[in-house]
Amino acid sequence: MPWIVGYPRDKVSWYPIIDSEKCLKDKCAICMNCGQKVFEWTKDGPKVVNPNSCVVGCTTCGNLCRGTAISFPDKKELRLLYAKEKIWDKVHEQLEKDGKLKIVNHEEAAVPAQT
Ligand code: SF4
Ligand code: SF4
Repeated sequence: MPWIVGYPRDKVSWYPIIDSEKCLKDKCAICMNCGQKVFEWTKDGPKVVNPNSCVVGCTTCGNLCRGTAISFPDKKELRLLYAKEKIWDKVHEQLEKDGKLKIVNHEEAAVPAQT
């Protein structure tokens, strides 16, 4: 997972937590749009079945949850882990290696080829 670059995912505490009392499952279900297969739909509504498939740092389902029923672990703890384990530096190095930090010169790209 590029967001953590080799750091063991099961040691990163990041996943959605559903408050079933607040979940409006009969009028919602938007969390089921997550493509990571984190949730499974049950007779009682969504259930978190693959917490470690959640993209570290993502909060989309929580932001769009109709019942504001989804929360996440403490973001401060996550940031402390990134600092302690130098994950930001490793991600930067990896992105450089992958060529994703190359500066694109749109002006040059826009000049039509000379014939
Ligand atoms: S997005 Fe929120 S309210 Fe909607 S089904 Fe999921 S947990 Fe329930
Ligand atoms: S936070 Fe993002 S990746 Fe994680 S379950 Fe919600 S939508 Fe999926």
